[in-house]
Amino acid sequence: MCGIIGYTTKKNNSVDVAIAGLKNLEYRGYDSSGIAFNSNEGLTIVKSAGKISNLEEKLSKLSTASNCAIAHTRWATHGEPNETNAHPHRVGKITLVHNGIIENYASLKKELQEKNYEFKTETDTEVATAYIDYCYSLTNNKLQAIVDACKKFRGSYAFNIIYEDEPTTIYATRKDSPLVVGYSDVGNFAASDISAILNYTNRYSLIDEGEFIKITNSVVTFYNKDLQEISSEVKTATWDATQYQKNGFDHFMLKEINEQPKVIQDIFNRYYTNCTYSDIDFSAFDKIHIVACGSAMHAALVGKYLLQTYAKIPAMVEIASEYRYIEELITPKTLLIVVSQSGETADTIAALRLAKEKGAYVIGIVNAVGSTISREVDKCIYTYAGPEIAVATTKGYSSQVAVFSTLALNAMEQKNLLTDEETNNIKNELLNIKDKIDYTLAQANTYLDIANDIYSHNDLFFIGRGIDSAVCMEGSLKLKEISYMHSESYSAGELKHGTISLIEEGTPVIAIATDNSLFEKTVSNVKETKARGSYSIFVTTDEHKDYNFDEFADKTIILPKTNDFAQPILTAIALQSVAYETAKLRNCDIDKPRNLAKSVTVE
Ligand code: GLU
Repeated sequence: MCGIIGYTTKKNNSVDVAIAGLKNLEYRGYDSSGIAFNSNEGLTIVKSAGKISNLEEKLSKLSTASNCAIAHTRWATHGEPNETNAHPHRVGKITLVHNGIIENYASLKKELQEKNYEFKTETDTEVATAYIDYCYSLTNNKLQAIVDACKKFRGSYAFNIIYEDEPTTIYATRKDSPLVVGYSDVGNFAASDISAILNYTNRYSLIDEGEFIKITNSVVTFYNKDLQEISSEVKTATWDATQYQKNGFDHFMLKEINEQPKVIQDIFNRYYTNCTYSDIDFSAFDKIHIVACGSAMHAALVGKYLLQTYAKIPAMVEIASEYRYIEELITPKTLLIVVSQSGETADTIAALRLAKEKGAYVIGIVNAVGSTISREVDKCIYTYAGPEIAVATTKGYSSQVAVFSTLALNAMEQKNLLTDEETNNIKNELLNIKDKIDYTLAQANTYLDIANDIYSHNDLFFIGRGIDSAVCMEGSLKLKEISYMHSESYSAGELKHGTISLIEEGTPVIAIATDNSLFEKTVSNVKETKARGSYSIFVTTDEHKDYNFDEFADKTIILPKTNDFAQPILTAIALQSVAYETAKLRNCDIDKPRNLAKSVTVE
């Protein structure tokens, strides 16, 4: 959600570098873009609604040799996504780009209007710009003005700021929105994430909240809120620029789907062979709360099932933005598990902070190393899935499920719930899971065939029971996100309590039945829909390959059978692939679906 890059350099290519950086941030989701750059004519601002290519088109008509630029992709929160509201904003001596929301912008705007400030846009960001300008008029001290203004701001922000009379210096700060500093021999950066700058450097520092940074082309200085100089650790990124390329695949989503065999195998090898959770005392908790949003919440539903059914610990899943409403249930005996690919999900951060205040122990399941969640939890379990560029998550989701499996298994071992033989069987299976994932991916023709059957429909249903019901939710979301087809996910037994009225001749129903103990019941539920005209796609495992599907299934997907700790991953991969092929047939913008943002950094 929103991308920021600022670059100040000894050369004159800051515009090109900033635009290239913005393109690497496109995956975060945006609806307009803009840039401010320093040149002989002073600070020039160019903005455009829509894709970055529109901005490039405008820039191509200008002379853009420049040694300092700040650029932005906006995901509108306050005001339409048009050119006027796009960033950068300029008020008085201040030009800035912003990610986040200034929640109290209305009262600040009123205060500034009384001081004769005028506003041209509907954004909260323009108010922030004016407020810093106002503070600067009082102190005439650039860093102090930013500190003073930030004291007034409620909400979230990452800022790159340029002062008119110092146009080659970038000032930066953040609260609840991501921002990192990058270092190179010819210049320095401040960007939303490391992907924006990996083509130029892998040296970076994280910016902590309450830190204020002055960036010139040769020196980066960190200050605390009292404006004392502080040190900052310089890290080296392990991800490289090639991981941000499609490497021969048509889409990032397809590339990421195909990365899952390795990502999942790595997780089981890393966290299951050398068990790294010995520091978590599962007996210290009377319940587990799992909090997340979107697909991570669906991974959490699988996690809940595994922790409850196998590790025998009561667990509940709550949507992050709703968690504060059950605040009285959080105690020091609560284990909170927060799940977020980006580690920057604003709602999830709010939930984890609340739980920490209440004395709960918090585990984070996170992909992005060094992200806010990874730094604030008591224990961070990284999925190490590598960068995920497609907005619709695939390996991000399945890697979270895999981590939940290792957590449940660990809790079971701690509680002596497994015999040695059971442990060995599970280990044998999980430490060789890659072959079964490869086999699942190899059925690409089946997925395409099914996509051909469903792509022209407007409504579709997913049904399943138990752990399959949790995976159905993710299958349904994936299809909605990227193909814009309406679909709903229902527990198979629940359909007849209302929604079955929507089934009519030809309505596609994708039914999942991988759990042997629930197979017959799910078959009955599919038959109920078939009797009402559904077009049924039945997903099961090779244990049932000789079953007579003809009387209720129009198509089947037969997956390799594995245990509950890995089966949801195989099922999810099949559903991701069907969604991908369907979106392709519907000519959708698969990697960047409309209205969606990758990392949702506002509440
Ligand atoms: N709230 C600001 C706006 O609507 C910033 C949005 C963003 O993070 O892109 O302009």
